[in-house]
Amino acid sequence: MHEPDAQTRELMLENETLRSRMTYLLEQAERNHSIMCRHQAFDLKIVGATSFQELVTTIFETLPVISDLDTVTLSLVDPEADIYTVMHKLGVDYEVLPNLLFCEHAGELGFRQDEGRRPKPLLGPYAPSRHGGMFPHPPPGLQSVAMVPLLRNTRLIGSLNLGSADPNRFTAALGTDFVEHMGSIVAICLENVISNEMLKFIGLTDSLTGVYNRRYIDRRLVEEIARARRQGYRISCMYIDIDHFKRVNDTVGHQGGDEVLREVAQRIKAELRISDALGRFGGEEFVVLLIDADLESASMVAQRIRASVALTPVGLATGEHVPVTVSIGVATLADFERDHAIEGVAQDLVAQADGALYQAKASGRNRVVSVA
Ligand code: GH3
Ligand code: MG
Ligand code: MG
Repeated sequence: MHEPDAQTRELMLENETLRSRMTYLLEQAERNHSIMCRHQAFDLKIVGATSFQELVTTIFETLPVISDLDTVTLSLVDPEADIYTVMHKLGVDYEVLPNLLFCEHAGELGFRQDEGRRPKPLLGPYAPSRHGGMFPHPPPGLQSVAMVPLLRNTRLIGSLNLGSADPNRFTAALGTDFVEHMGSIVAICLENVISNEMLKFIGLTDSLTGVYNRRYIDRRLVEEIARARRQGYRISCMYIDIDHFKRVNDTVGHQGGDEVLREVAQRIKAELRISDALGRFGGEEFVVLLIDADLESASMVAQRIRASVALTPVGLATGEHVPVTVSIGVATLADFERDHAIEGVAQDLVAQADGALYQAKASGRNRVVSVA
């Protein structure tokens, strides 16, 4: 076997270089493809989220994994704390979402908001003094961060904040197309679930008093009865009606009457547990569902409510003070028969409480009547 000549050797060497370069490019392409697929799966997942809790949980749990990040936080602009309050009332548990942050003004997010220009992502080394607000629980070794503006049309609704232990992950020189794309999808999904949740909430609450409405209580009662049947705990129901409310309106006017309704709702609520549900059934009538409460404990709560309303007259904006009393009927769920239609059982329970209320009115008002 003779030695290859110099020209062949050179060709072989070149061949080898090309080959390894090809392998490298192929690996890169495969890696990029897999990153793209993972991000597409993430996009689909967040687009499909049907609740606020599901959306933010997906962002916090999935994004760090698919994008190989050490932390992800989300700041939302919420000037009147409406989003915070409504999500809380709809059952969002902030304890399990420590990286969900709220701020009062868009200016707090730190983006440059020049006239007519869209704010751009801010990429660079992590500095606790500057970025501490965005990363209240920074992971050890956090080195570089990207703050991505969340925009709807031109309005800044929040910031998606990405952090990495790799100092070269986010540098000012890096292109921002990719994170901007991610930000635009997150922003659309957020706006969508937030407005859906707000609508849901408005449909279930009474705008005058802020407590639930009849639709909510009717629905909740059916759910609770089904659960009580499975788990065998007690449910009780209170029907509350303000005494001589017509007179209240006559003496202090409709506006004053509205203030009384709001205050009575607050006094009722103050006596309840978090698991109980209070709804305004229309006019000056309220219904309370007491979960895991038998007739005796429900009657005690009813007495506390009656006493708290009667104790101090309601102060109005005009400076007037109106003495108010309520009558309350209490009933407890006794029908645990699984083959009885739940809707009928629910209606019967409310009707029994209403019947007891009627007796309370007939026997002189400002009192509680309980029916076994
Ligand atoms: P009773 O002790 O028998 O319950 O007497 P009442 O005057 O409270 O009874 P009634 O149910 O006849 O009157 C309820 C009044 O509540 C009539 C209505 O004008 C008033 N009302 C209903 N809805 C509202 C409201 O949203 N705001 C105000 N201010 N008044 C309301
Ligand atoms: Mg009434
Ligand atoms: Mg009344």
